[in-house]
Amino acid sequence: HAKETGTTRVVEYFPELQRRMMETVRFENDIREAIRNDGVEVHYQPIIEAHTGRPIGFEALVRMRHPERGLIPPADFIGIAEETGLIGDLSRIVLKKATRQLAAWKREFPSLNGLTVAINLSPSQFDDPAIIDQIAKALEKSGLSGDDIKIEVTESMLMENTSQTVTIMEDMKDRGIRICIDDFGTGYSSFSHLRNHAFDTLKIDRSFIMRITEDKRDAELVRTILQLGQNIGMNIIVEGVETKDQRTLLSDLGAHHMQGFLFGKPLPAKAISDWLSDWVPG
Ligand code: C2E
Ligand code: MG
Ligand code: MG
Ligand code: MG
Repeated sequence: HAKETGTTRVVEYFPELQRRMMETVRFENDIREAIRNDGVEVHYQPIIEAHTGRPIGFEALVRMRHPERGLIPPADFIGIAEETGLIGDLSRIVLKKATRQLAAWKREFPSLNGLTVAINLSPSQFDDPAIIDQIAKALEKSGLSGDDIKIEVTESMLMENTSQTVTIMEDMKDRGIRICIDDFGTGYSSFSHLRNHAFDTLKIDRSFIMRITEDKRDAELVRTILQLGQNIGMNIIVEGVETKDQRTLLSDLGAHHMQGFLFGKPLPAKAISDWLSDWVPG
C-alpha cells in the first residue's frame, strides 16, 4: 500500500520535477551563452556617507543580458550558476569588469579618494583556492590594490567554516582585501560571526530597515547592532534605505554608511559616470 502511495506521489510530482529540470538546462545554456557573448553585465549601486551624501564606493551587482528576455536579475540565475559550476566563470567576469571600472573612476574622479568596489561571492567559492588567483589577476590587470576592493559574503557561507574557507579568508585579509558580512541578521548565529577577525564590515539586511519608521522594535534592534558593531571596531553599512524618513532616523540611530534606492539604484557604469560627474564639482 505504501508503495502505491509512493508511486502516486512520484507521478504527481514528476511534471514539476521535469519542468524544473528543463528550466535548469535552459538557464544553464543561457548562462553559457552570456559568458561567451559578453552578456554578463555589471551594474553598480552607490554606497554613501550619510552626513555628506558623498559616495564612498559601489557594490557590483551582476545581471545577464538575454537576446529575447532582456536583462535578467541575479536571483533568477545565480542559484543555477552555483549548481552547474558556472559561478566561477561568472565571477571572473564580474571581478574583471568591476576592478577595471573602479580603476577608471579613480582616474577620472581623483577627488573622491578611497572609492572601493564590493564584489559578491557565493559560499561555494570559498571552498576553492582558485578564487585567490582570480582576484590577484583582476587586481594586477586593473592596477588596483587589495584595499580597493571588498568581498561580500552572506552568512550562509560561514556555516561551513572549513579550514579551506579560513585559509582563503586569511589570504584575502593578508592582501588588504576587506570582507563584509552581507545581509547581516538573516542567517544562523549572526552573533558568533562577529568574533571572526577576518570580517571588516557588516551590512545590516534590508528586512530590518523596511518598517523601521513604524516599528520601534526594529529601530531598537538596528540601534543595538550599530552600537555593537562599532564597539568592536567594525564598519557598518545599512542596506535598503528607500525614504528620507528612514535616512533621518538611521542617522539618529548612529548609522554613517548607507545604501539604497533613496541614493541610487544599481545602474550601468556609464550612468554612474554621469552621476559622479554631477556629484563632483568642476
Ligand atoms: P545583495 O548582495 O544583498 O545585494 C543587494 C540587493 O538589494 C540588490 O539586488 C539591490 O538591487 C537590492 N537593493 C539595494 N537597495 C535597495 C532598496 O533600497 N530597496 C530594495 N527593494 N532593494 C534594494 P540584486 O542586484 O537583484 O541582487 C540580488 C542578490 O544577488 C545580491 O544581494 C547578491 O546576493 C546576489 N548577487 C548579485 N551579484 C552577484 C555576483 O556577482 N555574484 C554572486 N555570487 N551573487 C551576486
Ligand atoms: Mg551584497
Ligand atoms: Mg545584502
Ligand atoms: Mg541580499
